[in-house]
Amino acid sequence: MFCSKCGKPVDPSSRFCPACGATISAAPPPPPGNYPNPNQLTRPRNNRMIAGVCAGFALHYGWDINLVRIITALVALFTGIGAVAYLVLWVIIPEAPYALPAKSI
Ligand SMILES: [Zn+2]
Repeated sequence: MFCSKCGKPVDPSSRFCPACGATISAAPPPPPGNYPNPNQLTRPRNNRMIAGVCAGFALHYGWDINLVRIITALVALFTGIGAVAYLVLWVIIPEAPYALPAKSI
């Protein structure tokens, strides 16, 4: 393969061009805007009622958030399993990352 910057042949296993020092990108970089993963079910940090579980499901699946909350409340009231399920989902579903890069812990 050849350096994309100076055109000199470079070893594909090396990460930098020996002639000009440019970074050799064998694999294309991940597309921008792909983080956070939109397919990941998360609990949004805003628009949440308790822990954002209902809002997370509504956003993820395109459901009506009020409908999700009503159904959740009814299930919790009449089956007794809803509250437990909510707590479990609260623990399982990760919180959505902040819009700005959060400081590394
Ligand atoms: Zn080069």
